[in-house]
Amino acid sequence: MDRVRLIIFNAALGPLDYRVSPGMAVEPGSVVIAPLGPRQVLGIVWEPERLDGGAEVPASKLRPLLEALPVPPLSAPLRRLIEWTADYYCAPLAAVARMAIGSMAALKGGGTTTEYRLSGAEPARLTPQRAAAMDALHDEQATIRELAERAGVSEGVLRGMVGAGLLEPVTVDLDRPYPRARTDHAAPDLSPDQQAAADRFSAAVRDGGFQPFLLDGVTGSGKTECYFEAVATALALGRQVLVLLPEIALTENFLRRFEARFGVSPVLWHSSLKSSERRRAWRAIVSGDAQVVVGARSALFMPYARLGLIVVDEAHEISFKQDDGVRYNARDVAVVRAKFERIPVILASATPALESMQLAEARVYTKVELAARYGGAELPAIRVVDLRKDQPERQHWIAPPLVKELRDRLDRGEQSLLFLNRRGYAPLTLCRHCGYRFQCPNCTAWLVEHRLSRRLACHHCGHEVPTPEACPECATPDCMVACGPGVERIADEVTERFPAARVAVVTSDTLGSPGKVREFVEAVEGGLVDVIVGTQLVTKGYHFPELTLVGVIDADLGLEGGDLRAGERTYQQIAQVAGRAGRGEKPGEVLIQTRHPEAPVIAALAAGDRDSFYAAEAEARREAGAPPFGRWAAIIVSSEDEAEAREAARAIGGTRPDLPDVLVLGPAPAPMALLRGRHRYRLLINARRSAEVQRVIRDWLGQLRFPPGVRVAVDIDPYSFV
Ligand code: ADP
Ligand code: ZN
Repeated sequence: MDRVRLIIFNAALGPLDYRVSPGMAVEPGSVVIAPLGPRQVLGIVWEPERLDGGAEVPASKLRPLLEALPVPPLSAPLRRLIEWTADYYCAPLAAVARMAIGSMAALKGGGTTTEYRLSGAEPARLTPQRAAAMDALHDEQATIRELAERAGVSEGVLRGMVGAGLLEPVTVDLDRPYPRARTDHAAPDLSPDQQAAADRFSAAVRDGGFQPFLLDGVTGSGKTECYFEAVATALALGRQVLVLLPEIALTENFLRRFEARFGVSPVLWHSSLKSSERRRAWRAIVSGDAQVVVGARSALFMPYARLGLIVVDEAHEISFKQDDGVRYNARDVAVVRAKFERIPVILASATPALESMQLAEARVYTKVELAARYGGAELPAIRVVDLRKDQPERQHWIAPPLVKELRDRLDRGEQSLLFLNRRGYAPLTLCRHCGYRFQCPNCTAWLVEHRLSRRLACHHCGHEVPTPEACPECATPDCMVACGPGVERIADEVTERFPAARVAVVTSDTLGSPGKVREFVEAVEGGLVDVIVGTQLVTKGYHFPELTLVGVIDADLGLEGGDLRAGERTYQQIAQVAGRAGRGEKPGEVLIQTRHPEAPVIAALAAGDRDSFYAAEAEARREAGAPPFGRWAAIIVSSEDEAEAREAARAIGGTRPDLPDVLVLGPAPAPMALLRGRHRYRLLINARRSAEVQRVIRDWLGQLRFPPGVRVAVDIDPYSFV
């Protein structure tokens, strides 16, 4: 090859052609450095005939590539996946390709890097900053920049400490191998049902070829144990496995179980890895040394050398959908990747998405069911508490029947879990005197009071202020009223009623790191917690045998706002949190507090009638032409300037295509009309399944030009409608 076409890592640029200098070996997939004006950019060599537009520049005018990086080329299946993703989600190829290169630093090759740690020297006197760093950096080892971030001091302070011998350098080998998993370390005795499921997965791994499975098993049925057998089979064949988890908070549990089964940790991939961990993991993924990779969405696009199986656990979780940058759904892209790689993929869930159920019914996915809990545990009994009849006292949210059950559990020394999907103390704070409401200056949202940290915070943009002593509007002191409950307030209510109860509040604020998750799990397992009060973070993954009561504080919360999947999401959340109860020998009980006991989703939960819920949900979606029966796409227009956003949205609306199978709604101000300082408008496209929505959108938007301050985002199969 003396001429190549590159995808350049710059979303604004299309493909560009370059000359290959004699002696440089490149092929499709090679990662290279190319000149661009006065700069150097990263690019990936691509099959020229597969890229639109690379302008025909005569060979004599081409600039030469600067360097081919010492990493294996991205494989053909991965290249096809990148093309598919860009095409399907209307995203720039470069933005998708970038996701395959998870660590720029790793491209430089192996070798070593330098990290620092405390040397153990004990100086007589310390500046306050050095003392703070000494305190913060116990057991830490990382680059100066990462340590500075962790300790909250400047890099200069730490460099000074290196000079003074307080911090010592450590040479880290980037390519040191990970310990090998032992496939027979502790193989479980599977129940006959589990064995049957595991055998099917293992056979699929051995046979190779694309085979998508929906592992539909009730909470506590041992889905993890089943797919672990398929993992073992893949490892025995020398193949790599990718396990996608929806949230990094779930990883801790997964790690414990993985270590128990395979004797080692898997390789982790997530956004808060240190740079050296990132480089090491990426290089091991590319070389094939990483046997099992566990990660959130971003692990999906890595260049695995020998992928043999993909597992998507808790596959119904909406956090698999990415809502900025490339707006893709990792659950769906995982299936597409498996298809290009010709390997099996397992979607595991106790409450599959309707989309997945339909695909199983249509026999696109093979459904594997686990109908019973492992070890004879029964599914919990579910009772509805009608809040219109059983009212909690004023300024309280736990109704009498739930109070009684809580008391029973406390008397018996059993554990309870109260679920409310709202962080903080109260979702709205206002002035009793003048009615002033605390609103985020950057978003259409109230500020949420966090009493533990004494702050008012926006959950959308992170804006925070200390809770003021007086109203900023009328200056009346001590006049703030908290409206409605968050988990902190429910925890207060439990403590007020049961002063001796040991209460743990579990939210992303309190379980921010793997260490915190471990502490929490150990506290609950060790019997140091009586009542857990938590958000959706505690609804899945945990297995606490002494937990026998689950109380859903407000089942109606998720039904408000009424987006397309509100019913399904409520069903999943409550079924999952209910699934935490009675996993051991003692039976579990679930109380669902609601003002709408007659709502189909609540009735279905109470009756334990999953099938009728899915059937009703499917019917409603069919009538609305909603997924999976029709297709939705959204166009989100935003700008810091309100008029500019409105004008751009109107221009898009004014040129809408006139097609029989594509209906365009809007533009209208988004429900979240202001988000992170940007004014937003939305258009919603509802199309028949047969319509080529992506092509229609590309042609439509492609002919329009917008001012530089305007962003136009396309969201295919949207999950968020705000
Ligand atoms: P699910 O993921 O389906 O909710 P889990 O995989 O969490 O269920 O399994 C529930 C509990 O039962 C876990 O603690 C798990 O270790 C245990 N378990 C499941 N199957 C077996 C088995 N075959 N042998 C031993 N323990 C098992
Ligand atoms: Zn905000």
